[in-house]
Amino acid sequence: MNNQFVFLFDQSEKGKKELLGGKGANLAEMTRIGLPVPYGFTITTAACNAYYDAGQVISKEVESQVLEALHTLETKTDKRLGDPANPLLVSVRSGAVHSMPGMMDTVLNLGMNDDTVEGMAELTNNPRFAYDSYRRFIQMFSNVVLDVDNYFFEQRLEDFREEKGYHSDTELTAEDWIQVIAAFKSIVLKQVKRKFPEDPKEQLFLTINAVFDSWNNQRAVLYRRLHHIPGHLGTAVNIQSMVFGNMGDDSGTGVAFTRNPSTGESKLYGEYLINAQGEDVVAGIRTPQPIASLQEDMPDVYQQLVETCQLLENHYKDMQDIEFTVEGGNLFILQTRTGKRTAQAAIRTAVEMVKEKIMDQREALLRVDPDQLDQLLHHRIDPEHKREQLAAGLPASPGAATGQVVFDADEAEELSRDGKKVILVRPETTPDDIHGIVAAQATVTSRGGMTSHAAVVARGMGKACICGCDSIKIHLESKQFIAGSTTVNHGDTITIDGSTGEIFLGEIPMIEPELSDEFQLLLRWSDEEAKMGVRANADNPVDAEKALEFGAGGIGLCRTEHMFMDASRIPTVQSMILSETTAERKESLDKLLPMQQQDFEQIFETMQGHPITVRLLDPPLHEFLPDKEELLVEVTKLQLTDPHSSELEEKQNLLRKVRLLEESNPMLGHRGCRLGMIHPEIYEMQVKAIFNAMANVMDKGINVTSEIMIPLVSHVNELKKMRQLVTTIGDQIQGETGKTFDYLIGTMIETPRAALTADQIAEEADFFSFGTNDLTQTTFGFSRDDAEGKFLQHYVDRDVLKRNPFVSLDQEGVGKLVESGVKLGRKTKSTLKTGICGEHGGEKESIQFCFDLGMDYVSCSPFRVPSARLAAAQATIRHEQINSKKVPQYS
Ligand code: PEP
Ligand code: MG
Repeated sequence: MNNQFVFLFDQSEKGKKELLGGKGANLAEMTRIGLPVPYGFTITTAACNAYYDAGQVISKEVESQVLEALHTLETKTDKRLGDPANPLLVSVRSGAVHSMPGMMDTVLNLGMNDDTVEGMAELTNNPRFAYDSYRRFIQMFSNVVLDVDNYFFEQRLEDFREEKGYHSDTELTAEDWIQVIAAFKSIVLKQVKRKFPEDPKEQLFLTINAVFDSWNNQRAVLYRRLHHIPGHLGTAVNIQSMVFGNMGDDSGTGVAFTRNPSTGESKLYGEYLINAQGEDVVAGIRTPQPIASLQEDMPDVYQQLVETCQLLENHYKDMQDIEFTVEGGNLFILQTRTGKRTAQAAIRTAVEMVKEKIMDQREALLRVDPDQLDQLLHHRIDPEHKREQLAAGLPASPGAATGQVVFDADEAEELSRDGKKVILVRPETTPDDIHGIVAAQATVTSRGGMTSHAAVVARGMGKACICGCDSIKIHLESKQFIAGSTTVNHGDTITIDGSTGEIFLGEIPMIEPELSDEFQLLLRWSDEEAKMGVRANADNPVDAEKALEFGAGGIGLCRTEHMFMDASRIPTVQSMILSETTAERKESLDKLLPMQQQDFEQIFETMQGHPITVRLLDPPLHEFLPDKEELLVEVTKLQLTDPHSSELEEKQNLLRKVRLLEESNPMLGHRGCRLGMIHPEIYEMQVKAIFNAMANVMDKGINVTSEIMIPLVSHVNELKKMRQLVTTIGDQIQGETGKTFDYLIGTMIETPRAALTADQIAEEADFFSFGTNDLTQTTFGFSRDDAEGKFLQHYVDRDVLKRNPFVSLDQEGVGKLVESGVKLGRKTKSTLKTGICGEHGGEKESIQFCFDLGMDYVSCSPFRVPSARLAAAQATIRHEQINSKKVPQYS
């Protein structure tokens, strides 16, 4: 049997999203429910992949299935493509599995030509509408399919309006549009050296090609990269009979969200334009009306829309983003999809849907993306600070940001790359500006509504955004905007509040975020479900406090080297490193001991009995010494200016030692437990500081559970020696103080050899913590300090690697070693505690992986703790669902 590449809306069964794309699957679903959906068919994602496999050619098989479906569409609608007496017009839209708003191409009014336009004019008795639709089609088709810059058409139209003395398009008559159409066709001829194609079937297949091609356009590729959407999925193409929102004042088009996508408030939200086509709303060219006023403009339609929205939300059990068109007073639904929303809205919606009994707690937890929570943990404008509003627009995406004004997406990207904070200000954004929105702190547009691209894209990324701020006048040529009597120039600093839509001049102080009651509730639910702990990586009392505030169950990694870096300690640390003899070194270590001890006491006190994993010194010692190049310059200068000074002698001595400690490959050099092996006195000092601190804190009646962790072990004998070192000092201090310490000794697993010999290593370890930063470095052989800047981005851009392995754990490679580490370790000690403390410990997919391996906890930076708590709950729920064969549908 032939493969089925084309499905009519009433032909496909449920659950074919992978094949039909999100839009196609939902159109079929709505058709089944009996909603007023214009009829049509979907060409599958498999056809898109076949198209690419064949070298960007539509196969005969797909072509004939399209023609067959077209024939059914013609029969159902009783219209024919290209029939002047009764023309069928269709829309051709992309529709990937994961929604990628505006990233790919669409063509409306397809089927129009010099003959059908006349038929349309007669049938509708509205020649002006027919010719306007035709010129829109020529413009859109030529831009999308023939790659003619829109500018030429817009410019011609503007000139035409000027010649006629018109102010807006609505003043153009049918005769005017006929002249514009002729002009547009000459533009096409001039630009692409071919006549505008009049054959509707040729138009159709050229457009299908173009939509498939748009899967790989620059913005779609960037969007996929940002949202980790795999490139092999392909897009479906939806072909649907047209309905017209631009047939007069009883027509219109709009977008409705079943709940407010910024706040989550359970109230219909959206906007519409009377007498317009869908793309006018989404493209942000005209500023639309809020949906509430549709109740006055078209009360019956409004009522029907409210009911349909309710029905769709209940059906999909999630907030929906719905596109609709009203043609001659009749409502049509063109699309429904899960609404993109801010973190705040996602949480409120999830919590309220549980209260409304639309879903249970576990389902609600799966509805919130852990990555989004980050948005809620950042700054907002200090309300106490006096400030004067410069202008205000629509609050399109919440959050506050400060930066220098730039007017161009490329420049936003360049300056951000140089570490500058910028705010992108544009009359409107198009999907081509997406890289600028990504790079900027925030985006402001003077046109467009809450569903314009800038708004949708910024919300998805958690970037602050203000849209439709028409009180500012932007002058792109002179690079400035005017708000009232103030002129803001390129490079001036402004602050914006995306939650209120306000713009302020200059920098305004921000305050720390607080967690809303709903957020707290969601995290409590997470903790109820999660069968995995979440700890924080914290090296000082401030971070430890943050960790507790965000709900960490302990500290999973306290890096002790940061305590050495303190400016006041550096001279002592340096003299310890530069000591010629062990006795000399011990002298410096004796000075460092009380300092370390005090650090530990403060952290232990802060953590109030929660477990704390303290890792002994890890980095190579030369990191604490002055830079060699700088020293060399100083020595050379002194040789010229003061050749007999004692300062020169000291610096020369220092330079000699810096050179001695220098290594060609410091990351693979004398670091980690290798320091403790060669200079045990350093680790002895640290262990003494830990136990003394424990004793002192216990005297205050506070419990302390410490886990002493040995870094970069690759052979069990290293751990054996270091374990002896720790227990000897532990026994000694317990003897001296008469106290019994609650402590464990464990190791990091961060070299392939450690992972492969974990059964032996477990003999000496009470716990394992996977240091996946180093494990990734040593498994790939990629320098964690240099790879990202030098070649990793290139790898990710070209799909050599799906994700940056330093961000999301490489499950196929590094993951195998982690799996081996856990399994072998537990073979030796079934109760061995295991966790992860590399950067991956805060990343949702890596968390799922660690949970599936049976790890006890993940540890990440304090600000990622809330998101990791939710991810741990999701990992538990998904794991259980998969094991009980109830695989969840991820949208
Ligand atoms: C690791 O290597 O994953 C780790 C947590 O240690 P560090 O980043 O300090 O090397
Ligand atoms: Mg490490």
